[in-house]
Amino acid sequence: MKFGGTSVANEERIERAASLIIDEVNTGKQVAVVVSAMGKTTDKLLALAADIHPDAEKRELDMLLATGEQVTASLLAMAISAKGIPSKSFTGWQAGIRTESIHSNARIEDVDSKRVVDTLESGAVAVIAGFQGIDHDAEVTTLGRGGSDTSAVAVAIAINASACDIYTDVEGVFTTDPRMIEEAAKLNEISYDEMLELANLGAGVLHPRAIEFAKNHQMPLRVRPAHINGEGTMIKEEIEMENNLIVRGVAFEEDIVRITIMYDTPYNGSLANIFTVLAEQQVNVDIIVQTIMDGEQPSVSFSIKNEDFAKAMNVLEMNKEELGYKRADFEVGLAKVSIVGSGMVSNPGVAAHMFDALRDASIPIKMVSTSEIKVSVVIPSMYMKEAVAVLHKTFELGHVG
Ligand code: ADP
Ligand code: ASP
Ligand code: MG
Repeated sequence: MKFGGTSVANEERIERAASLIIDEVNTGKQVAVVVSAMGKTTDKLLALAADIHPDAEKRELDMLLATGEQVTASLLAMAISAKGIPSKSFTGWQAGIRTESIHSNARIEDVDSKRVVDTLESGAVAVIAGFQGIDHDAEVTTLGRGGSDTSAVAVAIAINASACDIYTDVEGVFTTDPRMIEEAAKLNEISYDEMLELANLGAGVLHPRAIEFAKNHQMPLRVRPAHINGEGTMIKEEIEMENNLIVRGVAFEEDIVRITIMYDTPYNGSLANIFTVLAEQQVNVDIIVQTIMDGEQPSVSFSIKNEDFAKAMNVLEMNKEELGYKRADFEVGLAKVSIVGSGMVSNPGVAAHMFDALRDASIPIKMVSTSEIKVSVVIPSMYMKEAVAVLHKTFELGHVG
């Protein structure tokens, strides 16, 4: 069982989480629990750090942020014990969560679950601080924002759990973010692949790596509400098609920047050079569009996240001569809106339908990218909410379930 930040935001909610855990224990199950930091703790800690050092070392930030989850773990263990069921809390490293040596966005490499398993075998509930681990040099690492989901799935796999339930502040996975679109409908089921696309394309309800792990180990994963009773959404390999849905969800992401590099003459450099220098500086490039036409200036455009913008422009400027381009332009204030559904594989015309709907709403499209089960468009941010609403309606997602 994993409890997210809102679900442990205060004493009352910690008590409620403890009760839900004890209900499970009373059905005869052994229960391991993973927790997030209380409420907005992680944001508050980051703000505190920024006041003291605007560009603090990532190592120190990890030391700081890891404390948030530890507070919840110990308090929740106390709450469970207070209700008469033995419970013991663990930091990520005490729970054997080993990661690669990267601060602020480490991947879990393996989990030595002995202490957790011993605790469960002794009849106690193990409560583990999420979002954190330890590297080979005994340095504390964190897993990236939202990473407690990944801790939960990794622990579930390591202890050979029968399932992993993610308790959160919504009733499950919806056709789009229910906090933005009122008509969003809860899905009863969704496949690992669709969920992974949605999460990667901006649906913050699950950390993408959690879904990846769950899929690789076929761990049944469920997103369910902590504040009310509800069955939530099952995420698994094969699902039944609800109402023959071709599109299952709409995801969106703000703060996208498009950079366009223009050449005077047909390339003297090559695409590989541009993307190599960007990759060397850890700039994540998303959509790439190249145009080479007779009689026109060759150009290449690509999209990145706003947070990488300054770094990207800097890298391009520093390597201008070597890359051999004439000018680099950029456009900020963009958003990416995507439709996802495994039914697209066998249904041509989904992209056309999407473009039609956006054109009818006079929403300009700046870039497009597709895969077997998604179509993404980059549009001006000011149209983002409208685009999500239009697509949600066009693909009749309000009627699911
Ligand atoms: P937690 O603190 O429990 O990890 P998060 O804030 O990380 O919770 O994730 C839950 C939030 O994800 C919801 O409050 C909701 O606004 C957002 N969200 C975005 N897309 C979706 C979606 N498709 N379905 C459900 N929730 C979504
Ligand atoms: N507390 C961390 C965050 O806010 C991790 C998590 O909640 O999953 O990102
Ligand atoms: Mg989360």
